[in-house]
Amino acid sequence: MTTILDGKAVAAALRQEVAARVKRFEARAGRLPGLTVVLVGNDPASEVYVRNKGVQTREAGMISDEVKLPESTSQRDLLNVVARLNADPSVDGILVQMPLPKQIDTQAIIEAIDPLKDVDGLHPVNAGKLAQGMEALTPCTPLGCMILLEKAGVEVAGANALVIGRSILVGRPVAGLLLAGNATVTIAHSRSRDLPALCKQADILIAAVGKPEMVRGEWIKRGAAVIDVGINRVPKNDGKTKLIGDVHYASAVEQAGVITPVPGGVGPMTIACLLQNTLTAACYREKIDPKTL
Ligand code: NAP
Repeated sequence: MTTILDGKAVAAALRQEVAARVKRFEARAGRLPGLTVVLVGNDPASEVYVRNKGVQTREAGMISDEVKLPESTSQRDLLNVVARLNADPSVDGILVQMPLPKQIDTQAIIEAIDPLKDVDGLHPVNAGKLAQGMEALTPCTPLGCMILLEKAGVEVAGANALVIGRSILVGRPVAGLLLAGNATVTIAHSRSRDLPALCKQADILIAAVGKPEMVRGEWIKRGAAVIDVGINRVPKNDGKTKLIGDVHYASAVEQAGVITPVPGGVGPMTIACLLQNTLTAACYREKIDPKTL
């Protein structure tokens, strides 16, 4: 029987857990953790994400703030905002919503954020720490993938794990987390040869490609855990659109032991993990071991 992982339920439970830990943080630190999200421009999808982040941050009992800047914002102005937030003691987490307008060098903004406040986990210091097997703030979606595997009772240590995709946002960090969990990790990408054969070896398969239904059921090892990170909006026959993953769900569900649906799998985990990272960042700043909360 295939286990279908309910990301919405796991995310809701994680948000509740974070809310309970926030209360314990407040009792010890005498203040609340704070997250500031910076939104540049009026991209409708980004506006929805930022609104949801604000609502869920407040529901977890944390302080939520937003900085909204016009589409025409210069790189210098955005760097100044980041510098102000770096220096603000009430801000534990800074998240600059991507994508940024084309006049702004995204990497320069990522590198300007104080690594201790980098709740997106994208700063090279945090990516480097993860690569060295050190404790670090880790990108939210990869963290969500690992929590889903854990909740499904998937044994990571010793497993053959294949990550398809090598982005700094998903592929590389999820590979780092799997390695930290003692999996034998392979990273595939657009230049990899014979992807179906690589997939067939994988006890854990993480697809983070951005190609609708690319991974077919017949590629998957029977009983494997399949985590589909892909979010692809495709047209439906009625002129509307729908979301599908990087895995061909109908055929994959026949082969997998555990699988995440799209939507409702990895997607809901991302904001819940952002809240967890904000609490972790606040703990680091207050010299509290997050594991003791
Ligand atoms: P990305 O930066 O575009 O990276 C895609 C990766 O896939 C690249 O490493 C690329 O290889 C690889 N790739 C492309 N075509 C391939 C092929 N035919 N065979 C094997 N590998 C191939 O994308 P991303 O930011 O990692 O996102 C991946 C997907 O996850 C997207 O659908 C995105 O919407 C989704 N996503 C979801 C969440 C969530 O909250 N659930 C969060 C972030 C992203 P090269 O490096 O060789 O080009």
